[in-house]
Amino acid sequence: PTPTDELVVSGLSVHYGGVRAVSSVSFTVGPGQCVGIIGANGAGKTSTLKALMGLVPRTAERIQFGDHDLTRVKARDVVRHGIGYVPEGRHVFPGLTVEKNLLLGAYVRAWKGETRSTLGEVFELFPVLGEMRHRLAGALSGGQQQMLAVGRALMSKPRLILLDEPSMGLSPKLIEDILAVLQRLSAAGHALLLVEQNAKLTFEATRTCLVMENGEVAMTGTSAELRDDPRVRQIYLGL
Ligand code: ATP
Repeated sequence: PTPTDELVVSGLSVHYGGVRAVSSVSFTVGPGQCVGIIGANGAGKTSTLKALMGLVPRTAERIQFGDHDLTRVKARDVVRHGIGYVPEGRHVFPGLTVEKNLLLGAYVRAWKGETRSTLGEVFELFPVLGEMRHRLAGALSGGQQQMLAVGRALMSKPRLILLDEPSMGLSPKLIEDILAVLQRLSAAGHALLLVEQNAKLTFEATRTCLVMENGEVAMTGTSAELRDDPRVRQIYLGL
């Protein structure tokens, strides 16, 4: 990553008709940094990621990634500027092979020659996807489909990856696997913005976190500080 690969978000809001889902949220994700957003169901986490991708109507003082102003940019151009998105619920195409699903992730790229080598990199990161490349995505387990969704995002060569609840619906064992995946992505130099209801996983995977409540940023801090905060322990860790 270059030093300019910083995501700067300021005053981001999302309204659905009269419903305010996100109210003036501000944060930054530095190059190669892992930032978490935790919060209860309905706190506005998914809407925040969708807003960054240009998938829902939003207003903002500033959404900037490196030198690019993303305030008015559409989803495909957000991807072109180096931001990958792994949506909640994975949304793989069950009737297509693993390989076809991955190739769809490269749709914004003009240089077809490089697509093959990127596919090789994804199979290196997730050997199981290489082994199952000719199987239908619908035949994969939930954990494997989550890896496929991450692999598909990697096909656009993102420098920052937005992940929406990758642990959703997975067993504790598979959640451990997801943590390992996040650590591998981070070690490979990707910046991550991780949205999760699973606070324990998020604190392990990130250095910095935001806590969202009712569409607002209720708390921010290092993941270590937040993990020890009495209120966070009670509400988000159930301790
Ligand atoms: P979850 O864990 O369910 O993904 P979340 O923290 O991501 O929750 P959002 O999905 O962003 O929260 O929802 C924030 C608020 O916006 C909620 O009150 C939700 O009901 C509302 N909302 C979300 N999507 C829409 C929509 N398409 N139309 C109207 N209201 C919506």
